[in-house]
Amino acid sequence: MTEKKKPNPRRMRARSKELRQKIAAMDFVASGTLHVRTKVCGKKNCKCATDPTKRHGPYHEWSRRKNGKLLHKILTPEQAQLVERAISNYRQIQKLLAQWEEETASEILNPPRRDDQK
Ligand SMILES: [Zn+2]
Repeated sequence: MTEKKKPNPRRMRARSKELRQKIAAMDFVASGTLHVRTKVCGKKNCKCATDPTKRHGPYHEWSRRKNGKLLHKILTPEQAQLVERAISNYRQIQKLLAQWEEETASEILNPPRRDDQK
């Protein structure tokens, strides 16, 4: 028990394996927000000009930042589903990364004792 042990890399990998598998299983990642909105076309004779229930849409609009610029893009319903999933994945990955970071710090600062190993 007097012998000092460095963190066992194999054990560390086992402890973070589940986190990494969850991240690896994700297909799409996206940041930003998805909004559903309706629009007024601007034509005087169009019903949307006077009746709020006759506005055009709904449109799925994806807002995100790229190189510091805010971008807006209208998506098809199919694209919107993918972006919704991608944004959800992105948030999940951020949580998993935070857990992984804690796990790593714990492993490095509190290496397992030799008799804990299997
Ligand atoms: Zn209109």
